[in-house]
Amino acid sequence: MQLVFATNNLNKLKEVQSLIPKHIKLLSLKDINCLEDIPETQPTIEGNAIQKAKYVKTNYGYDCFADDTGLEVEALNGEPGVFSARYAGPKRDANDNMDLLLNNLEYKKNRNAQFKTVVALHLNSKLKTFTGICEGKITGTKRGNKGFGYDPIFQPNGYNETFAEIDLELKNKIGHRGKAVMQLVSFLNTL
Ligand code: IMP
Repeated sequence: MQLVFATNNLNKLKEVQSLIPKHIKLLSLKDINCLEDIPETQPTIEGNAIQKAKYVKTNYGYDCFADDTGLEVEALNGEPGVFSARYAGPKRDANDNMDLLLNNLEYKKNRNAQFKTVVALHLNSKLKTFTGICEGKITGTKRGNKGFGYDPIFQPNGYNETFAEIDLELKNKIGHRGKAVMQLVSFLNTL
């Protein structure tokens, strides 16, 4: 079986590649020559994941899965949520996003937050979604240089390190995307 993973994010590709069984050939957007930005215009994380998977199927004809992730911060009523990528503006800069979030939380005691990933699979004309959640806290400062995005300021519950201070293997085991992708893998294994 071959499946497109609808992302241009090499960090995500690396994370997901290590979880997918070897008999499934994973193709990137580059592999299918999809070089444009795929629209993500829906008001929810789930909606965006579905939109991306449908886009690849409709325009390129490949079975495909896509993920969308948001960081939901309790003291900010779930923000940045679906706006996580462009929280600090259209530049989508990870450092700017983290700085804005740390600023907005400066005087807040409640640091609870969760990452939520929805994976949408478009396979044999059917759509299915898988959700993974990882709960944790927003730190006071950035720590670590692994991972990407908000990783340096997210400390998963039960750990003293941020996602940017732990190895990919552990992040995949306890993290939002890993949990959603493992559900996808279990489903694919039943086919
Ligand atoms: P998207 O799913 O690529 O649209 O990601 C939305 C935003 O969340 C972007 O700013 C990403 O950098 C960030 N993000 C997605 N996944 C992760 C993660 O695993 N760790 C930290 N930030 C992430």
